[in-house]
Amino acid sequence: MKIHNFSAGPAILPQVVLKEAAQAVENFENLGLSILEVSHRSKEIVSVMNEAQTLVKELLHLGDDYKVLFLTGGASTQFFTIAMNLLNPEETACYVDTGAWSTKAIKEVHNFGKVNVLASSKASNYNYIPKDWLVPANTKYLHITSNNTIYGTQYKTYPKSDKAILVADMSSDIFSHTFDATQFGLIYAGAQKNLGPAGTTLVIVKKDILGQVTREIPTMLDYRTHIKKDSSFNTPPVYPIYVCLLTLRWLQGQGGLKAVEANNRKKADLLYREIDRNPFFKGVAAVEDRSSMNVTFVANNEAHGAAFLEYCTANGISGIKGHRSVGGFRASIYNAMPLESVAYLVDLMKNFKPE
Ligand SMILES: *Cc1c(COP(=O)(O)O)cnc(C)c1O
Repeated sequence: MKIHNFSAGPAILPQVVLKEAAQAVENFENLGLSILEVSHRSKEIVSVMNEAQTLVKELLHLGDDYKVLFLTGGASTQFFTIAMNLLNPEETACYVDTGAWSTKAIKEVHNFGKVNVLASSKASNYNYIPKDWLVPANTKYLHITSNNTIYGTQYKTYPKSDKAILVADMSSDIFSHTFDATQFGLIYAGAQKNLGPAGTTLVIVKKDILGQVTREIPTMLDYRTHIKKDSSFNTPPVYPIYVCLLTLRWLQGQGGLKAVEANNRKKADLLYREIDRNPFFKGVAAVEDRSSMNVTFVANNEAHGAAFLEYCTANGISGIKGHRSVGGFRASIYNAMPLESVAYLVDLMKNFKPE
Protein backbone atom coordinates (compact mmCIF):
# COMPACT_ATOMS: atom_id res chain seq x y z
CA MET A 1 0.00 0.00 0.00
CA LYS A 2 1.28 3.44 -0.88
CA ILE A 3 1.79 5.61 2.20
CA HIS A 4 0.76 9.27 1.94
CA ASN A 5 2.94 11.34 4.28
CA PHE A 6 1.09 14.28 5.86
CA SER A 7 3.69 14.78 8.60
CA ALA A 8 4.35 18.33 9.84
CA GLY A 9 8.11 17.86 9.97
CA PRO A 10 10.47 16.31 9.16
CA ALA A 11 8.22 16.11 6.18
CA ILE A 12 7.65 14.89 2.67
CA LEU A 13 10.22 15.57 -0.06
CA PRO A 14 9.74 15.16 -3.81
CA GLN A 15 10.24 11.54 -4.94
CA VAL A 16 12.86 12.58 -7.51
CA VAL A 17 14.80 14.38 -4.80
CA LEU A 18 14.84 11.25 -2.64
CA LYS A 19 16.08 9.14 -5.57
CA GLU A 20 18.89 11.54 -6.47
CA ALA A 21 19.81 11.97 -2.82
CA ALA A 22 20.06 8.19 -2.40
CA GLN A 23 22.21 7.94 -5.52
CA ALA A 24 24.62 10.58 -4.19
CA VAL A 25 25.15 8.57 -1.01
CA GLU A 26 26.42 5.68 -3.14
CA ASN A 27 28.32 7.58 -5.81
CA PHE A 28 28.41 11.34 -5.92
CA GLU A 29 28.81 12.84 -9.40
CA ASN A 30 30.68 9.75 -10.61
CA LEU A 31 33.57 10.43 -8.27
CA GLY A 32 33.38 6.85 -7.03
CA LEU A 33 32.87 8.36 -3.59
CA SER A 34 29.83 8.92 -1.39
CA ILE A 35 28.83 12.54 -0.87
CA LEU A 36 29.12 11.69 2.83
CA GLU A 37 32.88 11.21 2.50
CA VAL A 38 33.85 14.15 0.29
CA SER A 39 35.65 17.21 1.64
CA HIS A 40 33.59 20.35 2.03
CA ARG A 41 36.54 22.16 0.41
CA SER A 42 36.34 20.03 -2.76
CA LYS A 43 35.25 21.84 -5.90
CA GLU A 44 32.17 19.62 -6.19
CA ILE A 45 30.86 20.64 -2.74
CA VAL A 46 31.83 24.29 -3.18
CA SER A 47 29.73 24.15 -6.34
CA VAL A 48 26.79 22.62 -4.41
CA MET A 49 26.97 25.53 -1.95
CA ASN A 50 27.16 28.14 -4.69
CA GLU A 51 24.31 26.72 -6.73
CA ALA A 52 22.08 26.40 -3.65
CA GLN A 53 22.70 30.05 -2.74
CA THR A 54 22.11 31.19 -6.30
CA LEU A 55 18.84 29.28 -6.62
CA VAL A 56 17.48 30.72 -3.36
CA LYS A 57 18.17 34.21 -4.67
CA GLU A 58 16.69 33.44 -8.08
CA LEU A 59 13.50 31.96 -6.64
CA LEU A 60 13.02 34.99 -4.39
CA HIS A 61 14.34 37.58 -6.87
CA LEU A 62 17.01 38.85 -4.50
CA GLY A 63 20.14 40.75 -5.44
CA ASP A 64 23.66 40.88 -4.06
CA ASP A 65 22.63 43.05 -1.13
CA TYR A 66 21.40 39.76 0.39
CA LYS A 67 23.41 36.77 1.51
CA VAL A 68 22.10 33.21 1.68
CA LEU A 69 23.47 31.06 4.50
CA PHE A 70 23.04 27.39 5.38
CA LEU A 71 23.66 27.14 9.12
CA THR A 72 23.11 24.59 11.87
CA GLY A 73 21.20 24.61 15.15
CA GLY A 74 17.72 24.71 13.63
CA ALA A 75 15.31 27.61 13.51
CA SER A 76 15.44 27.49 17.32
CA THR A 77 19.05 28.72 17.33
CA GLN A 78 17.98 31.67 15.17
CA PHE A 79 15.55 32.72 17.93
CA PHE A 80 18.47 34.11 19.95
CA THR A 81 21.03 34.64 17.17
CA ILE A 82 18.80 37.29 15.61
CA ALA A 83 18.58 39.31 18.83
CA MET A 84 22.30 38.85 19.48
CA ASN A 85 23.21 40.20 16.03
CA LEU A 86 20.61 42.95 15.67
CA LEU A 87 19.69 44.33 19.06
CA ASN A 88 21.62 46.58 21.45
CA PRO A 89 20.67 46.39 25.17
CA GLU A 90 18.80 49.70 25.14
CA GLU A 91 16.94 48.92 21.89
CA THR A 92 13.51 47.31 21.47
CA ALA A 93 12.42 44.47 19.22
CA CYS A 94 8.70 43.95 18.52
CA TYR A 95 7.09 40.54 18.11
CA VAL A 96 3.66 39.30 17.11
CA ASP A 97 2.78 36.20 19.13
CA THR A 98 0.99 33.75 16.85
CA GLY A 99 1.87 30.50 18.56
CA ALA A 100 4.35 28.25 20.32
CA TRP A 101 7.20 29.06 17.92
CA SER A 102 6.69 32.82 18.29
CA THR A 103 6.58 32.38 22.05
CA LYS A 104 9.87 30.53 22.02
CA ALA A 105 11.45 33.25 19.90
CA ILE A 106 10.12 35.99 22.23
CA LYS A 107 11.56 34.23 25.28
CA GLU A 108 15.15 34.69 24.05
CA VAL A 109 15.15 38.43 23.39
CA HIS A 110 15.50 39.79 26.94
CA ASN A 111 19.02 38.41 27.10
CA PHE A 112 20.07 40.98 24.51
CA GLY A 113 17.66 43.92 24.57
CA LYS A 114 14.07 44.93 25.19
CA VAL A 115 11.08 43.07 23.81
CA ASN A 116 7.60 44.36 23.08
CA VAL A 117 4.86 41.86 22.20
CA LEU A 118 2.52 43.91 20.01
CA ALA A 119 -0.32 41.40 19.87
CA SER A 120 -1.14 37.80 20.69
CA SER A 121 -3.88 35.35 19.74
CA LYS A 122 -3.04 33.10 22.68
CA ALA A 123 -6.42 33.60 24.39
CA SER A 124 -8.11 31.76 21.52
CA ASN A 125 -5.41 29.09 21.24
CA TYR A 126 -3.81 30.93 18.32
CA ASN A 127 -6.57 30.20 15.83
CA TYR A 128 -6.09 33.54 14.03
CA ILE A 129 -3.43 36.11 13.10
CA PRO A 130 -3.82 39.37 15.03
CA LYS A 131 -3.83 42.32 12.62
CA ASP A 132 -4.83 45.23 14.79
CA TRP A 133 -1.47 46.57 15.90
CA LEU A 134 1.07 49.24 15.05
CA VAL A 135 4.84 49.21 15.17
CA PRO A 136 6.02 51.93 17.57
CA ALA A 137 8.71 54.37 16.46
CA ASN A 138 12.24 53.35 17.39
CA THR A 139 11.57 49.64 16.97
CA LYS A 140 14.82 47.98 15.90
CA TYR A 141 13.18 45.01 14.26
CA LEU A 142 9.73 43.46 13.92
CA HIS A 143 9.51 39.66 14.06
CA ILE A 144 6.68 37.55 12.66
CA THR A 145 6.11 33.82 12.18
CA SER A 146 4.75 33.64 8.64
CA ASN A 147 3.07 30.25 9.00
CA ASN A 148 2.04 28.71 12.27
CA THR A 149 2.72 25.03 11.78
CA ILE A 150 0.83 23.83 14.86
CA TYR A 151 -2.40 25.86 14.51
CA GLY A 152 -2.67 26.14 10.73
CA THR A 153 -2.66 29.93 10.41
CA GLN A 154 -0.68 31.93 7.87
CA TYR A 155 -0.09 35.58 7.05
CA LYS A 156 -1.69 36.38 3.67
CA THR A 157 -0.10 39.83 3.52
CA TYR A 158 2.99 40.87 5.40
CA PRO A 159 3.03 43.90 7.67
CA LYS A 160 4.64 47.03 6.28
CA SER A 161 7.52 48.18 8.36
CA ASP A 162 9.10 51.44 7.25
CA LYS A 163 11.88 51.91 9.76
CA ALA A 164 12.04 48.66 11.70
CA ILE A 165 13.84 45.74 10.09
CA LEU A 166 11.30 43.07 9.13
CA VAL A 167 12.31 39.57 10.28
CA ALA A 168 10.38 36.37 9.61
CA ASP A 169 10.47 32.76 10.71
CA MET A 170 9.32 31.07 7.49
CA SER A 171 10.19 27.53 8.58
CA SER A 172 6.94 25.99 7.40
CA ASP A 173 6.03 28.04 4.33
CA ILE A 174 9.30 29.07 2.70
CA PHE A 175 9.10 28.81 -1.12
CA SER A 176 5.38 28.01 -1.01
CA HIS A 177 4.20 31.26 -2.61
CA THR A 178 5.44 34.44 -4.26
CA PHE A 179 6.07 37.51 -2.14
CA ASP A 180 8.28 40.57 -2.15
CA ALA A 181 11.31 39.28 -0.27
CA THR A 182 13.07 42.64 -0.50
CA GLN A 183 10.83 44.00 2.27
CA PHE A 184 12.59 41.64 4.70
CA GLY A 185 15.88 42.23 6.45
CA LEU A 186 16.14 38.63 7.55
CA ILE A 187 14.28 35.41 6.77
CA TYR A 188 15.07 32.08 8.40
CA ALA A 189 13.72 28.57 8.03
CA GLY A 190 14.61 25.19 9.45
CA ALA A 191 14.95 23.02 6.34
CA GLN A 192 12.93 20.03 7.50
CA LYS A 193 9.43 21.32 6.75
CA ASN A 194 9.51 22.53 3.20
CA LEU A 195 13.04 22.40 1.88
CA GLY A 196 15.10 19.38 2.86
CA PRO A 197 16.01 17.09 5.73
CA ALA A 198 16.68 18.23 9.30
CA GLY A 199 20.24 19.43 9.86
CA THR A 200 20.48 22.81 8.21
CA THR A 201 18.75 26.15 8.61
CA LEU A 202 18.36 28.58 5.77
CA VAL A 203 19.12 32.20 6.68
CA ILE A 204 18.67 34.99 4.17
CA VAL A 205 20.08 38.24 5.45
CA LYS A 206 20.37 41.74 4.07
CA LYS A 207 24.00 42.53 4.65
CA ASP A 208 23.58 46.17 5.64
CA ILE A 209 21.51 45.38 8.76
CA LEU A 210 24.58 43.82 10.42
CA GLY A 211 27.46 45.41 12.30
CA GLN A 212 25.29 47.76 14.35
CA VAL A 213 25.54 46.14 17.78
CA THR A 214 28.14 46.96 20.37
CA ARG A 215 28.44 43.55 22.05
CA GLU A 216 31.08 41.03 21.13
CA ILE A 217 29.41 38.17 19.26
CA PRO A 218 30.91 34.66 19.51
CA THR A 219 32.50 33.83 16.14
CA MET A 220 30.15 30.99 15.21
CA LEU A 221 27.05 33.03 16.10
CA ASP A 222 28.08 36.11 14.14
CA TYR A 223 26.33 36.14 10.74
CA ARG A 224 29.30 38.04 9.33
CA THR A 225 31.57 35.03 9.95
CA HIS A 226 29.41 32.87 7.72
CA ILE A 227 28.91 35.59 5.14
CA LYS A 228 32.66 36.01 4.77
CA LYS A 229 33.24 32.25 4.48
CA ASP A 230 30.22 31.32 2.33
CA SER A 231 28.68 29.14 5.07
CA SER A 232 31.92 27.14 5.22
CA PHE A 233 33.77 28.73 8.14
CA ASN A 234 33.59 25.30 9.77
CA THR A 235 32.35 22.02 8.31
CA PRO A 236 28.83 22.72 7.04
CA PRO A 237 26.13 20.00 7.01
CA VAL A 238 27.00 19.06 3.44
CA TYR A 239 24.42 16.36 2.89
CA PRO A 240 21.34 18.25 4.16
CA ILE A 241 22.46 21.22 2.06
CA TYR A 242 22.79 18.96 -0.98
CA VAL A 243 19.23 17.66 -0.48
CA CYS A 244 18.07 21.30 -0.19
CA LEU A 245 19.82 22.00 -3.49
CA LEU A 246 17.98 19.10 -5.13
CA THR A 247 14.68 20.50 -3.81
CA LEU A 248 15.56 24.00 -5.02
CA ARG A 249 16.25 22.60 -8.51
CA TRP A 250 12.91 20.82 -8.34
CA LEU A 251 11.13 24.05 -7.35
CA GLN A 252 12.79 25.85 -10.25
CA GLY A 253 11.76 22.99 -12.55
CA GLN A 254 8.12 23.35 -11.45
CA GLY A 255 8.21 26.82 -12.98
CA GLY A 256 9.29 28.79 -9.92
CA LEU A 257 7.20 30.03 -7.03
CA LYS A 258 4.27 31.23 -9.13
CA ALA A 259 3.61 27.71 -10.34
CA VAL A 260 4.31 26.22 -6.91
CA GLU A 261 1.83 28.66 -5.35
CA ALA A 262 -0.89 27.79 -7.88
CA ASN A 263 -0.46 24.10 -7.13
CA ASN A 264 -0.49 24.72 -3.36
CA ARG A 265 -3.66 26.78 -3.77
CA LYS A 266 -5.37 23.90 -5.57
CA LYS A 267 -4.43 21.41 -2.88
CA ALA A 268 -5.52 23.67 -0.01
CA ASP A 269 -8.82 24.62 -1.70
CA LEU A 270 -9.68 20.99 -2.33
CA LEU A 271 -9.13 20.05 1.31
CA TYR A 272 -10.79 23.10 2.91
CA ARG A 273 -13.80 22.69 0.64
CA GLU A 274 -14.27 19.16 1.96
CA ILE A 275 -13.78 20.24 5.59
CA ASP A 276 -16.49 22.90 5.13
CA ARG A 277 -18.83 20.52 3.30
CA ASN A 278 -18.45 17.42 5.44
CA PRO A 279 -20.83 17.38 8.45
CA PHE A 280 -18.40 15.25 10.50
CA PHE A 281 -15.58 17.82 10.50
CA LYS A 282 -14.87 21.47 11.11
CA GLY A 283 -11.85 23.68 10.48
CA VAL A 284 -9.79 25.06 13.38
CA ALA A 285 -8.26 28.27 12.00
CA ALA A 286 -10.13 31.50 11.21
CA VAL A 287 -11.15 31.23 7.55
CA GLU A 288 -9.25 34.32 6.38
CA ASP A 289 -6.01 33.11 8.02
CA ARG A 290 -6.15 29.50 6.89
CA SER A 291 -2.74 28.08 6.07
CA SER A 292 -2.05 26.59 2.66
CA MET A 293 0.59 24.36 4.28
CA ASN A 294 -0.86 22.96 7.51
CA VAL A 295 -4.57 22.27 7.37
CA THR A 296 -6.02 21.82 10.86
CA PHE A 297 -9.46 20.36 11.50
CA VAL A 298 -11.33 18.44 14.18
CA ALA A 299 -14.21 15.99 14.23
CA ASN A 300 -17.45 17.45 15.57
CA ASN A 301 -17.78 14.33 17.71
CA GLU A 302 -14.73 13.03 19.57
CA ALA A 303 -15.52 9.36 19.03
CA HIS A 304 -15.78 10.00 15.31
CA GLY A 305 -12.34 11.62 15.47
CA ALA A 306 -10.77 8.49 16.93
CA ALA A 307 -12.54 6.39 14.29
CA PHE A 308 -11.36 8.62 11.45
CA LEU A 309 -7.77 8.46 12.65
CA GLU A 310 -7.97 4.66 12.60
CA TYR A 311 -9.59 4.74 9.17
CA CYS A 312 -6.76 6.96 7.88
CA THR A 313 -4.05 4.73 9.32
CA ALA A 314 -5.68 1.63 7.85
CA ASN A 315 -5.72 3.34 4.45
CA GLY A 316 -2.11 4.48 4.23
CA ILE A 317 -2.33 8.00 5.62
CA SER A 318 0.63 8.84 7.84
CA GLY A 319 1.31 11.78 10.17
CA ILE A 320 -2.14 13.34 10.15
CA LYS A 321 -2.77 13.40 13.92
CA GLY A 322 -3.07 16.99 15.16
CA HIS A 323 -0.56 18.56 17.53
CA ARG A 324 -1.44 17.76 21.16
CA SER A 325 -2.17 21.43 21.90
CA VAL A 326 -4.84 21.58 19.17
CA GLY A 327 -6.04 17.97 18.86
CA GLY A 328 -7.93 16.58 15.89
CA PHE A 329 -6.10 16.48 12.59
CA ARG A 330 -3.37 18.36 10.83
CA ALA A 331 -2.77 17.59 7.19
CA SER A 332 0.56 19.12 6.23
CA ILE A 333 0.48 19.61 2.49
CA TYR A 334 3.88 21.16 1.86
CA ASN A 335 5.27 21.92 -1.60
CA ALA A 336 6.27 18.31 -2.25
CA MET A 337 2.81 16.91 -1.47
CA PRO A 338 1.17 15.83 -4.74
CA LEU A 339 -2.39 16.92 -5.51
CA GLU A 340 -3.28 13.21 -5.91
CA SER A 341 -2.47 12.55 -2.23
CA VAL A 342 -4.71 15.40 -1.13
CA ALA A 343 -7.47 14.09 -3.40
CA TYR A 344 -6.96 10.64 -1.86
CA LEU A 345 -7.42 12.08 1.65
CA VAL A 346 -10.51 14.01 0.55
CA ASP A 347 -11.99 10.77 -0.84
CA LEU A 348 -11.39 9.08 2.51
CA MET A 349 -13.19 11.95 4.26
CA LYS A 350 -16.09 11.60 1.81
CA ASN A 351 -16.28 7.83 2.29
CA PHE A 352 -15.94 7.97 6.07
CA LYS A 353 -19.15 6.65 7.66
CA PRO A 354 -18.85 6.52 11.44
CA GLU A 355 -20.96 3.89 13.24
C1 LIG B 1 9.46 23.54 13.27
C2 LIG B 1 9.48 25.00 13.48
C3 LIG B 1 10.51 25.63 14.22
C4 LIG B 1 11.61 24.87 14.91
O1 LIG B 1 12.56 24.45 14.02
P1 LIG B 1 13.87 23.68 14.49
O2 LIG B 1 14.66 23.64 13.23
O3 LIG B 1 13.44 22.33 14.97
O4 LIG B 1 14.53 24.46 15.56
C5 LIG B 1 10.47 27.00 14.31
N1 LIG B 1 9.51 27.73 13.73
C6 LIG B 1 8.51 27.15 13.03
C7 LIG B 1 7.47 28.02 12.39
C8 LIG B 1 8.46 25.78 12.89
O5 LIG B 1 7.47 25.20 12.18
